[in-house]
Amino acid sequence: MDLFEYQGKQYFARYGIPVSAGDVATTVDDAVAIAERIGYPVVVKAQVQVGGRGKAGGIKLASDADEARVHAGSILGMDIKGHVVRRVWVERASDIAEEYYASFTLDRAAKRHLLMLSAQGGVDIEEVAAKDPGAIVRLHVNPIEGLSEAAARAAAAEARIPERAQAGVASILVQLYECFTAGDCDLAEINPLILKPTGEVHALDAKVSLDANASFRHPEWDEFAATVELDDRERLAREKNLQYIGLDGTVGIIANGAGLAMSTLDVVNQVGGSAANFLDIGGGANAEVMAGALEVINSDQKVRSILINIFGGITRGEEVAKGIVEAVSRVSLRAPIVIRLDGTNADEGRRILAEAGIPESVLTSKPTMLEAARAAVAIAGR
Ligand code: GDP
Ligand code: MN
Repeated sequence: MDLFEYQGKQYFARYGIPVSAGDVATTVDDAVAIAERIGYPVVVKAQVQVGGRGKAGGIKLASDADEARVHAGSILGMDIKGHVVRRVWVERASDIAEEYYASFTLDRAAKRHLLMLSAQGGVDIEEVAAKDPGAIVRLHVNPIEGLSEAAARAAAAEARIPERAQAGVASILVQLYECFTAGDCDLAEINPLILKPTGEVHALDAKVSLDANASFRHPEWDEFAATVELDDRERLAREKNLQYIGLDGTVGIIANGAGLAMSTLDVVNQVGGSAANFLDIGGGANAEVMAGALEVINSDQKVRSILINIFGGITRGEEVAKGIVEAVSRVSLRAPIVIRLDGTNADEGRRILAEAGIPESVLTSKPTMLEAARAAVAIAGR
């Protein structure tokens, strides 16, 4: 679960990480009231879960109420890379001497937590990694031992963070590590981590992703879950209780079982296509579920072909076929279907599909996953 910046900062604050005083607003009047309360200058920041808000005009300094009003007015409702701004965070503006980068993630291959630290912050870390990889210090942390102040300090020195900022950076790294581990994060990133002219170190941005598997021990996460923004496709899928994740490609995918769905994405990629989504209709899916899945896929404007990949175990071929026949009669599909139907009662399923008299321009059947993927990708590319 990805948090908005303001939620990430509230999360950081629990672990003692210094952040600027501020508050969140959904209206211009509220934004101005917050600015008046905390005192000028303030920064008005678009709350969207995408980077590069600064460059997109979603972050503005205001030195009085008039400016706060103008900026909040222009930022609220703004579209940043397809994300509509519904909230702004207004915080006390900071003076910046230097900008650094710090993050913790899990390095699965190394089975260790990974600290990444750089004296070159404020910019895209991918850019730093590409241009000057030596500028990023990577330190694996043994989860049993944790991160000591001394190790954090050594990392700061190695990253060539100036002497006067090292103690401040190290203490934030220890706090951030605590937030990452005790706080059950998948990602805890500060970019930029700033040094103020006065010498204090401070988190100016927050990017936090929480590990949803740990939500059972964090009742306080409910308020974060309440603000999760789903796109239209994901909302429809949730209503229908489908395991769906929206992607950007053109081949709509329906499969039974998460593993088969993942493999289907891989095979589509392998033959040169791109998946529009992940959708697992689960084991034992009936006609109703299949029809619902097709409706969700059909609501995606980018979809140019639909690949249905079923290997029946508990899921029965004739149910899948009935669902497709029903969906085809119920909704006018935006794209042709290619199906690979195998496993339990597949013969009966194929017979139902054949007898339904669905034209080949709407549905074709292929005997293997690879052939079906090739056909779907070819249609999407036409
Ligand atoms: P992002 O572009 O979405 O990552 O948003 P950030 O919160 O990281 O802000 C982008 C940039 O805006 C920072 O790197 C700073 O240069 C600038 N900025 C943000 N807040 C302040 C502030 O309080 N004071 C000043 N002077 N600049 C700020
Ligand atoms: Mn940032």
